[in-house]
Amino acid sequence: MTMMTGAQYIESLRELNTRVYMFGEKIENWVNHPIIRPSINCVAVTYDLALEPEYEDLMTTTSNLTGNIINRFNHIHQSTDDLKKKIKMQRLCGQKTASCFQRCVGMDAFNAEYSTTYEIDKKYGTDYHNRFKKFLSFVQDNDLVVDGAMTDPKGDRSRSPHEQEDPDMYLRIKERRRDGIVVRGAKCHQTGSVNSHWHIVMPTQAMKEEDKDYAVSFACPSDADGLYMIYGRQSCDTRKLEENADIDLGNKCYGGQEALVVFDDVFIPNEYIFMAGEYDFAGMLVERFAGFHRQSYGGCKVGVGDVLIGAAALVAEYNGSAKASHIKDKLIEMTHLNESLYCCGLACSTEGYPTECGSYMINLLLANVCKQNVTRFPYEIVRLAEDIAGGLMVTMPSEKDFKSDLIIGRNGETIGDVCKKYFAANTEKCSTEDRARILRLLENMCLGASAVGYRTESMHGAGSPQAQRIMIQRQGNIESKKDLAKKIAGIIQE
Ligand code: SF4
Ligand code: FE
Repeated sequence: MTMMTGAQYIESLRELNTRVYMFGEKIENWVNHPIIRPSINCVAVTYDLALEPEYEDLMTTTSNLTGNIINRFNHIHQSTDDLKKKIKMQRLCGQKTASCFQRCVGMDAFNAEYSTTYEIDKKYGTDYHNRFKKFLSFVQDNDLVVDGAMTDPKGDRSRSPHEQEDPDMYLRIKERRRDGIVVRGAKCHQTGSVNSHWHIVMPTQAMKEEDKDYAVSFACPSDADGLYMIYGRQSCDTRKLEENADIDLGNKCYGGQEALVVFDDVFIPNEYIFMAGEYDFAGMLVERFAGFHRQSYGGCKVGVGDVLIGAAALVAEYNGSAKASHIKDKLIEMTHLNESLYCCGLACSTEGYPTECGSYMINLLLANVCKQNVTRFPYEIVRLAEDIAGGLMVTMPSEKDFKSDLIIGRNGETIGDVCKKYFAANTEKCSTEDRARILRLLENMCLGASAVGYRTESMHGAGSPQAQRIMIQRQGNIESKKDLAKKIAGIIQE
């Protein structure tokens, strides 16, 4: 099969029997649901861009498994060049959508599974790597979207998985059968889960022997028997339900998506199991997936940041403040911060290295530094954008007011006339409507639906800040730095 178009991808979702719940109800036609559809459109962009000759080099590549041309989102990185192209592809997708385009979690899961299964097999003589390669060839051949599901609910954080009062707080093997396993549990805030054809489940943390039933990894279809999803709310989500909503949405076409994915005794056949009790490899799988996803943020958030900086520059122009030196300086600072994140994404890719099975890993220290910066810089970029935008970003009347012909003025002015008069600014540069559009886009990205992806996800996605600090401590090699200092200071080494 060749690569799908965005439209074909959207149609392919209709063939699934994915069970989706929102606002206390089952959503039957979720593909067309106004709250969900922008997130589907966003994934569709990863398909359409791959078919554009201009982006062919970034968006497509040759599979190391089949030799076929595939979408890069389904690729196993074969070089540092591949790692860098991944970052550039994500920046591009962020620029085109100003949202989380969701397909990276699967890509990062593939790459973590590929090398980890190889190393499990080497130690235990299992057959996970071949199984995984077979599954990935199927994904590549059918150009599918796969959700990489890692984060468990975790219950009481002071207790390990087997110590939890409720044993389902971490996803676990409930039953082992000759032909497979039955799993129970859930994965939280799953990016793009509803929009994925399949899921790859991974453990959420390193495990000890007592927790070996929780050291489990597998693939399963998104509509597997016993699997269902509860859709996560986003700020201002019900604006999407308003009739003819457009300007007030800020970003009408695209958005991100997170859901709670529940595995209510789901049977997984052997051929889709990639870890089942090898607890000593749970940490490796987590570290590699998290490492790849921390690298990812040096691409996707930068692309979204590009749109945000552009919107801030436009609003300054529309307000008539673009020439003020402090505005110029704020745009410089935003650019500096955004490009610093890109530097981190490229640096951890450039310093990548081959794993035992030949696929490429990023430099873990630099990937963690990348993500640590992502927990900070987008917040400052948002602060500066809000500074430039002014308070109107959050006080402006609705699109319906701007379009209302209800007469309210002494001289027959309508609500629309009054809004257009008093919210006009630099009329040479923009109409009042365009000013409203750009302010709503800023609102959407700074504190509306897309802020899920640009702000809170920057903080907690791919692991909260402390998770990176632990990795930075482990990878930072302070001992060798002490030796450097001793040598320079003339301290005799024992
Ligand atoms: Fe991709 Fe970024 Fe969304 Fe993660 S947050 S899935 S890296 S776009
Ligand atoms: Fe993420």
